[in-house]
Amino acid sequence: MVANTDMNAGMKLSLWLRCQHCHLITYHPERFGNGPDNIQQNCSVCDADPTQKVMYFEHSLSVTLQFIQRAYESKQNLVSIDTFSAQATDKYPVSIVIFFAILQDLLLDRLLRDLAEARGIPKVNQLLAEHPLYAQKKKSLFPRCAGIDWDIALSKIQPNAKYDFFRLDQTLQQLTSLRQRFIYLGFGWHLSHKEATDCINSVEPLINLHVLLHNRYVHPCYLKTTRRNCQQNK
Ligand SMILES: [Zn+2]
Repeated sequence: MVANTDMNAGMKLSLWLRCQHCHLITYHPERFGNGPDNIQQNCSVCDADPTQKVMYFEHSLSVTLQFIQRAYESKQNLVSIDTFSAQATDKYPVSIVIFFAILQDLLLDRLLRDLAEARGIPKVNQLLAEHPLYAQKKKSLFPRCAGIDWDIALSKIQPNAKYDFFRLDQTLQQLTSLRQRFIYLGFGWHLSHKEATDCINSVEPLINLHVLLHNRYVHPCYLKTTRRNCQQNK
């Protein structure tokens, strides 16, 4: 996700479709005329017909992505020195990292809800309320819902991944400290060019990460509706 792309990030989200039968998520760039038309084909895993494919990501995520993109494009690149002149700066609004944090939480909440539903874990709303912080959800709630630690889950999906998820995790931690600095200490109103681009360049890897976690830990539970498939994929 970068500024000046031919397709906005919200539209790109609509290219991820989920099979309603086996819950496999697949990417379909052909929806906007790119590549072979696989969307009219049956599900590659369970052979469900194409009408079973529905958009996976909710509209709220598209709205959040649009906010991130707009904040990035509103770079505050000039500061007035006096009435007649201005000086170039390299400042980006801190709102980029705030909206990005909302995206992180929405994605993780969705994954945890899907895991709980697939594995028959009750009272997911109560569990989410008891673990309001992102770190709590990742370190405590994810293992409870998926049956595996977050870091081990990353190591399982990493070999076939397009992005380096451990590097992404490090970047996310740095972005979290920027957000905490602003929210709890009340300073850091601007981001540097690197911080802003780290943030915006992390969007697609983050979405990919959640799709791969879903396909590894949620999708198998729906193949034969037995818990055994969930256990085999740890
Ligand atoms: Zn399927």
